[in-house]
Amino acid sequence: MTELDETHDAARRSWVASANSHPDFPIQNLPFGVVSISGCRPCGAVAIGDMVVNLNAARESGLFAGEAARAVDAMAAGTLNGFLALGSGPRRALRKQLFAMLSEGTPEQRQIEGFIHPAADCAVLVPARIGNYTDFYVGIHHATNTGRLFRPENPLLPNYKYVPIGYHGRASSIVPSGREIRRPYGQIKIAGSDAPSYEPCKRLDYELELGLWVGPGNTLGEPISIAETEEHIAGVCLLNDWSARDIQTWEYQPLGPFLAKSFATTISPWIVTPEALAPFRIQQPSRPQGDPAPLPYLFDNSDQSNGAFDIRLDVLILTPGMRAAGQEPFRLARSNARHMYWTARQLIAHHTSNGCNLEPGDLMGTGTISGSERDGCGALLETTQGGRDPVSLPSGEQRTFLEDGDEIILTASCERKGYATIGFGECRGQVSLQ
Ligand code: CA
Repeated sequence: MTELDETHDAARRSWVASANSHPDFPIQNLPFGVVSISGCRPCGAVAIGDMVVNLNAARESGLFAGEAARAVDAMAAGTLNGFLALGSGPRRALRKQLFAMLSEGTPEQRQIEGFIHPAADCAVLVPARIGNYTDFYVGIHHATNTGRLFRPENPLLPNYKYVPIGYHGRASSIVPSGREIRRPYGQIKIAGSDAPSYEPCKRLDYELELGLWVGPGNTLGEPISIAETEEHIAGVCLLNDWSARDIQTWEYQPLGPFLAKSFATTISPWIVTPEALAPFRIQQPSRPQGDPAPLPYLFDNSDQSNGAFDIRLDVLILTPGMRAAGQEPFRLARSNARHMYWTARQLIAHHTSNGCNLEPGDLMGTGTISGSERDGCGALLETTQGGRDPVSLPSGEQRTFLEDGDEIILTASCERKGYATIGFGECRGQVSLQ
């Protein structure tokens, strides 16, 4: 388990004024990413308050030493794959040096000041070349709610409590927060018609998920044992798995989701590290009475005792009508990462259990993380009962599924008494106006 150290000291303040009490990026967070500053070549960066530090430029001027310097050198290509491959040692060293350099009263303030830029001047990019993207299905309330729409008597299939269910997603269409989403066209078969037609999706939906960034990974044929999995989780982001429900309904059997999912996936582009998340680890919630224990290759005592996360997750919507009325985004749902039936470490162990190799910069979606109640549902499919029960918005509008111009914003917040609150930054995407 990641140790708590001085970088978790809630009393520590930064000389970067906007960092102090920042909801997402106080000095105790220090997430890594890739940014293009004023249109320049992409560089490795860390977020602090409303600012970002150009790590590559700071390194060129002689800042950082030892393992921390090695970590920044691995970012020089403008992607973080090399950095993610290094594992936890260099990442922790860099975090500690940055924490010291950005703390109030440090003698190094003058040296690093020249490499700090307003986040508003930066484009934050997808932080790694994502070789492979896998999406899981670990939100048990989501699996139950959606299963109930199709199989009211028996919502969960018998494999669910044994197998962390997943499918291989599309990596090329993963975009950073802020990119517009085009409504996909596809084959849609309307109930009662004899044949499908090719037309724009009418049941466009979001899915509230976390993304897990893979660290060093494994050699083909050599599974990662559950005991070793911690080292291979390099960080976490928010992930919106945009979904075309009408395309999905027609195409998904027998091989699972395909074009209903592959048109776009939005992520929050900052990699929040396991070190930053250490205070927010919790015991894996106990399984309901009668559920089977995980098979031995998925069971580890330390994982059971601290492998889950207490991360509050919100979904907000901003429609054209709300924008015209000058209204703030409206919260559609509030959930929490504690509703994951399988831990992040179990996903790594299961994914590699057949010998499949994970590579640095691979991304794994958790699957939709819903709470148990309607106001915790992480997708409109659940909230509206398959489109039967619309959501009312403050503008007087209603939604069953997303309309053109609607914007979906996912946010996360980690709060614990005695620790600084951290967040992930936004995962935002607007359905483009046709
Ligand atoms: Ca999904």
